[in-house]
Amino acid sequence: MLSKKNIKEIRNQFPILKEKIYDKSLIYLDNAATTHKPKNVIESSNFFYSKINSNVHRSMHFLSKKATISIENVRKKVKKFICAKHDSEIIFTKGTTESINLIAYSIRNFINQGDEILISHMEHHSNIVPWQNICDLQKSILKIIPINNNGIIDLNKFESLISERTKIVSVCHISNVLGIINPIEYIINKAHELGAWVLIDGAQAVSHLCLNMQKLNVDFYVFSGHKMYGPTGIGILYGKKNILKRINPYQFGGEMIKNVDFKKTTFSSIPFKFEAGTPNIEGIFSLGEAINFIKKIGLKNINCYEKELVKYAIKKLNELDNIYIYGKSNKIYTKSSIISFNLNKLHCFDIGSILDRLGIAVRTGYLCAQPLMNFFNVNGMIRISFSIYNTFEEIDYLFNSLIKAIKMLKYYE
Ligand SMILES: *Cc1c(COP(=O)(O)O)cnc(C)c1O
Repeated sequence: MLSKKNIKEIRNQFPILKEKIYDKSLIYLDNAATTHKPKNVIESSNFFYSKINSNVHRSMHFLSKKATISIENVRKKVKKFICAKHDSEIIFTKGTTESINLIAYSIRNFINQGDEILISHMEHHSNIVPWQNICDLQKSILKIIPINNNGIIDLNKFESLISERTKIVSVCHISNVLGIINPIEYIINKAHELGAWVLIDGAQAVSHLCLNMQKLNVDFYVFSGHKMYGPTGIGILYGKKNILKRINPYQFGGEMIKNVDFKKTTFSSIPFKFEAGTPNIEGIFSLGEAINFIKKIGLKNINCYEKELVKYAIKKLNELDNIYIYGKSNKIYTKSSIISFNLNKLHCFDIGSILDRLGIAVRTGYLCAQPLMNFFNVNGMIRISFSIYNTFEEIDYLFNSLIKAIKMLKYYE
């Protein structure tokens, strides 16, 4: 397990952690929304524009070749990071949302009237709305896999919902609200038995768990750079080679074509078929540095440390009267570094504003998952989410601040 000294060294790599918030030290517990960036990522942006900047894949000149090689090396790095089989299975997008939209629209022709798309009740809006739109366009049917009161996917109901009519199952690896790790291996195998494709929304998993695309045997896996210590505006779509070859491009224009003629245009091969226009070259370059950062610490170490943080935080939070923590894990479902809760009738926004004044950044509200809020019959939740730079002392400070907030709000009640 990483020592206090290790964590201190890691924290030193994040300049923003030294910022003062209303004269208080920053306690950043909103990592599920976006993580901060270590120095090597921040500096890589400067390095890119100072040393490499040029457009990619187009010209023969020195810098263009250098830029092209740089981003193709990141493609290889991502491939290795998630244990994909081929470089061409890695597609650069602007984030999880774009990756899901890309797949939804690219497989549209495979979805006919009356076909079914399965998602779960705990999805982020970006894994709901694109599918609703595809269902409208194709006259297909969106089915929702129910969850139980502990926020766990009901696998029996999943089995009764999935059928030969199901064309794709799209669920999150880890819920951005509940932090529960879904049994995606089981879901993938079951879907494949019935001939359905599976997309896994890995936005909350990629910086916490070791991933292996080949072992998972998943058809599509998507995530964002900014939740894994990288920049905003860059994300990944992993897709199985033989499927990517068969499905349509999502956007059309430069970079994605082989031959353009007014009579007939032919498309480039994968992955370029899905990367129309000038990509976020600097973002891709810096994503490579974010992966270097994670690899240097090691995902096993990260996972181990964050698990201890979560265990400690849950223990402390449970000492508070009238707290309700959403999403209880059991044997097959474990909890990742996200905890969402409410304090009896106190409004999450009131708690959030007081915590903010004390220097603590948490997320409050719908958490981009309104159907899940409706399921639990609440107007919002308070979410804390950890990453590798958080500490046990920060959890103690949060605990004491929550006690303060509760007292204040009770007083004014
Ligand atoms: C953040 C998040 C998304 C959306 O990611 P963007 O980077 O905003 O595109 C989708 N799903 C989950 C589970 C998320 O946590």
